[in-house]
Amino acid sequence: MISLGIESSADKLGIGLIDSDGNILSNIRQTYKPPFGSGIHPREASEFHSTNMPAAIEEAFQQAGIAPEEIDLISFTKGPGLGPCLRIGVIAARTLALSLNKPLMPVNHPIAHVEIGCLEGDLKDPVVLYVSGGNTQVIAFSEGRYRVFGETLDIPVGNCLDVFGRNAGLSDKQLPMGRVIELEALKGSKFVDIPYVIKGMDVSFSGILTHTTKLLSSNNYDLTDIAYSLQETVFSMLVEVTERALAHTRKEEVLVCGGVAANKRLKEMLNEMSLSHNAVFKGLDANLALDNGVMIAWLGILMHNSGVKAKLEDTIIDQHYRPEDVPVTWK
Ligand code: AMP
Ligand code: MG
Repeated sequence: MISLGIESSADKLGIGLIDSDGNILSNIRQTYKPPFGSGIHPREASEFHSTNMPAAIEEAFQQAGIAPEEIDLISFTKGPGLGPCLRIGVIAARTLALSLNKPLMPVNHPIAHVEIGCLEGDLKDPVVLYVSGGNTQVIAFSEGRYRVFGETLDIPVGNCLDVFGRNAGLSDKQLPMGRVIELEALKGSKFVDIPYVIKGMDVSFSGILTHTTKLLSSNNYDLTDIAYSLQETVFSMLVEVTERALAHTRKEEVLVCGGVAANKRLKEMLNEMSLSHNAVFKGLDANLALDNGVMIAWLGILMHNSGVKAKLEDTIIDQHYRPEDVPVTWK
């Protein structure tokens, strides 16, 4: 069977096609770019998605070399994410489903990240650190559900990096802000003290963002040293919480996904931590680590094959949809 996946929860529009053997037939991604110095504007991002949706879907079929009638399922991101952006995805999914007369499958975005990681990384049951511009969660399967073992209490780590970078006046036409900061951090060497904020199993970044922004404007420190210290601090916090989840669940695999997972230093730290617990560590290529339609299509197949059915009236969005809200029928 072939599933088409539509991802539109934030700044990326993703259309993916995958078959039930896990062969990826196409993976189209387009990214809305906010004007210089600002973050994602939900309405503008949703306009980007609606403008580009028809051509992206067409391109996905072209890349796969199949006709729309050949698909068996239409999967879309139900949430979490930005309301206006999610709504464009569900409208496109419903329209396709009605015109092609195919079933629909609403999908939880973080679980889709986990499942595509399991498929591509050949993992069975990992502890997952999901770090992106919109999410920061440590997720693992336990007693029939994917559970969030730790998460941010305020802003996501990617957002912390992005806003810090904007406050520092950094920008790059091609590179994501996290990558720009990664390059600055490589030039830094002097560690500057930054609050290390873990509460129970949760992390907090908003105070760190305020603090590092103040360090910038004090003019007492090099940007490179602040970037280096910021990375070391926030990544250490994330690795600590992931490590505790790993020790608690006694799992044997660790996966990192989301846009921030592209960071070499974070992967190095996670790898070292995993090795010390005799656990396997995997990251993904950017194609599948970033938001994409393939992961949505794949989780749709897993759900469909385990008997999940969605009625048209169930195909709604949920901006605050959580992993533990989903009964896991496919594991
Ligand atoms: P996503 O929300 O999954 O699309 O990921 C976007 C987030 O990943 C943004 O906050 C980016 O700044 C961040 N990001 C991308 N590349 C890197 C990198 N090399 N290091 C750290 N963060 C990154
Ligand atoms: Mg994501």
